[in-house]
Amino acid sequence: MQCRLSPSHDVVIAGAGPVGLFLACELRLFGLSVIVLEQADDPHSPLKRLPFGMRGLSAPTLEAFHRRGLLDAVTDAQRANDASGATHAASHWMQQARRPAGHFAGIPFFHEDVDASRWSHRLPSPAGTSLMVTLESLESVLEARAVGMGAEIRRGVTVEGFEQTDDEVIVRSADEAFRGSWLVGCDGGRSIVRKAGSFEFTGTPPEFTGYSLDVELEQPDMLRTGRTYTPTGMYTYARPGTIAMVDFDGGAFHRTQPVTLDHVQSVLRRVSGVDVTLTALKLASTWTDRASQAAAYRHGRVLLAGDAAHIHSPLGGQGLNLGLGDAMNLGWKLAATLRDNAPATLIDSYQRERHPVGAQVLDWSRAQVSLMRPAPASRALEAILRDLIDTRDGATYFAERVWGVSLRYDLGSNHPLVGRSVPDFELADGTKVGALLRAGKGLWLDFAPDAPWRELASRWHSRVTYVASTVVKGLGVSAVLVRPDGVVAWVAEDGSGVIEAAQVASLWFG
Ligand SMILES: Cc1cc2nc3c(=O)[nH]c(=O)nc-3n(C[C@H](O)[C@H](O)[C@H](O)COP(=O)(O)OP(=O)(O)OC[C@H]3O[C@@H](n4cnc5c(N)ncnc54)[C@H](O)[C@@H]3O)c2cc1C
Repeated sequence: MQCRLSPSHDVVIAGAGPVGLFLACELRLFGLSVIVLEQADDPHSPLKRLPFGMRGLSAPTLEAFHRRGLLDAVTDAQRANDASGATHAASHWMQQARRPAGHFAGIPFFHEDVDASRWSHRLPSPAGTSLMVTLESLESVLEARAVGMGAEIRRGVTVEGFEQTDDEVIVRSADEAFRGSWLVGCDGGRSIVRKAGSFEFTGTPPEFTGYSLDVELEQPDMLRTGRTYTPTGMYTYARPGTIAMVDFDGGAFHRTQPVTLDHVQSVLRRVSGVDVTLTALKLASTWTDRASQAAAYRHGRVLLAGDAAHIHSPLGGQGLNLGLGDAMNLGWKLAATLRDNAPATLIDSYQRERHPVGAQVLDWSRAQVSLMRPAPASRALEAILRDLIDTRDGATYFAERVWGVSLRYDLGSNHPLVGRSVPDFELADGTKVGALLRAGKGLWLDFAPDAPWRELASRWHSRVTYVASTVVKGLGVSAVLVRPDGVVAWVAEDGSGVIEAAQVASLWFG
């Protein structure tokens, strides 16, 4: 069939989920033309609202939003949600004697036990370390920002495949084709871009089918509230009818049959060991703990990001943060490749940096599955973990992982700041570094104005903002080079190391 060919864009993005939308914002920040193709006509869905649409954002995501001036909009949108009842759970938490700060396989750790003073690479920041939002409110903020910045979003367009040449990619839907210099597949766990591009996607098979359910129960008091491990599985229950449960069926049920009231009731009875009766099934979705990752995130002019590149169970809630981190890492590199003809090593650093982070998250979710198996060995392991997580070392370790504070790329330097998110340094006039990254340029921070950095930094003035100022707390460094994604590329402790500084700046800024 002959199909219409739309005008060319720098980048075609498949999928207007949170990752595709945030990537569109990033690419528009650098002036690229962007079209986002989304199969769904309607962005709204009950699964994106409370209770199942709740998502925990971690430190790297919040820092990224803060640096791009999006954090207030995300927080405001969430407040509007809260006004409609969303904070009930949170306020209930706040009233407890110990404030839960996160969990591992349902085992909580507490704010009071976390020793943040050990994270010497961090300074206090308005971004914070965690925030609960609904997917719906997050997507609405990102979509409004992307459209406001000039991205074109086409709903009701299902990507069916693509062809690429050395110069471009032609992306096909049923009756239209879209031409782009690059295609990024942000089209979720069952990505068509990944499949059409024959990206190798390997990992571990599922052990269970997970259920998220909104039900009416004849006797709501029969089930225990909170998380309960049983000899046949695990369920969590919040009154009056919110249930999540896992059934260790090898993932056999997921997407193979309709989720009916009778089926859910029989699984719930078996998993909980309680003879409950359901009178209504209002909402149901299933998922598994399959954990797979694309071996390569790029084939020629086609890239993958978000769930399209990696899938795992929602245990520990990290997939969204992982995908948004992909977008923040990729956006400026793709822009420099397209606009400034940067060498392929720059775009390839996307895979080099993000693939290991994805692999770690997959392992984090697998480790939680091993604690959830309905087996005596898992209960024994759980008891040990409960003891460990209750210690200061334990809580601090888990907070570091769950809040994303441990995130670090290997950029070839042993300095504790290099490869990490730049600390939110406060300059003499009160400006915080987080606010200086809004335009998407790199930053050359010079805390010792006698040093030779001003002249050197001027070589990259179109891509790097040079800022000379004394600093309130400099963490022992006198100069810092920050990439557009907020990652520290290089630091100086004194005025020496000009050659090394020039090499690092050329590597990232050409
Ligand atoms: C119950 C549950 C709880 C979770 N909790 C958390 C949490 O607390 N924290 C966290 O970080 N993560 C969490 N996650 C994971 C998180 O929701 C996902 O990782 C995240 O939504 C992935 O975003 P994405 O944009 O990559 O993909 P998606 O959100 O799946 O978006 C993909 C988009 O692409 C569109 N699309 C698909 N195919 C096509 C096509 N062929 N053509 C055009 N468009 C297409 C889809 O319609 C969709 O809009 C949870 C997941 C679940 C299921």
